[in-house]
Amino acid sequence: MDQMEQLWAYMQEDIKADKIAQQIRRSALRQKLEKTRDFILRQQNEYKNIEEQVAVSIDRADVISDAIRHAEEQLQAIQQRFDENPPDTQEAAHAMVDELEKCRRTIQSYEKEIREIHKSSNLYVSKVPSITQNIVQRKAEFDTMKAAYSKETESLKKEEETQRALAAEKAVGISPELMEAYNAVKRQISPPMALLHGGMCTGCNTTQPNAALRRIEQGEGIVECETCGRILMMRKG
Ligand SMILES: [Zn+2]
Repeated sequence: MDQMEQLWAYMQEDIKADKIAQQIRRSALRQKLEKTRDFILRQQNEYKNIEEQVAVSIDRADVISDAIRHAEEQLQAIQQRFDENPPDTQEAAHAMVDELEKCRRTIQSYEKEIREIHKSSNLYVSKVPSITQNIVQRKAEFDTMKAAYSKETESLKKEEETQRALAAEKAVGISPELMEAYNAVKRQISPPMALLHGGMCTGCNTTQPNAALRRIEQGEGIVECETCGRILMMRKG
């Protein structure tokens, strides 16, 4: 058998196998499975996001705690100074009181910030149980669906396997170069071959240039349709 004829015969079986694979992919259960998987992924991302937010909050709270400690030390230093060396003028006394006040206000504002950080952290953390529950629940649903899907596709997969084996038999003897060209075209368009009829590609109904027609007639290697890219072949006899 002519190489092109052989490739053509291979394509018939190859396309049949692809159709079965497509049937498996288009299963309603599979679509549900994918939706559930996406939901689980989103929840996992949210969980990760919370972890990150909490980590950032903890870092920020540490920084502020240090600042509070520092301000408290300052406050103590001022008080110590007051005890050891009481101000002798009213002006000096006022200045010291101002300094103390400033220090206290700083501490208060830091403490307020810490409370806010804790509040938002708690809010994040409070979402964790429902997220975890969602993940666990959907994961269980996913597993049940997956089992049903496997059962559903088992027979189709066997059918596909048989069909692929049949195609493989037809592929025996086809040159690797031709097979490679076939697969390259198939990645772009399927079916990847088209018959030439009345000078036209029957894949896309475009008239082919004379040079291409001549090359096909003379069996000069692989000729692809200029419009759709399919490998063209002429039926002999
Ligand atoms: Zn074409």
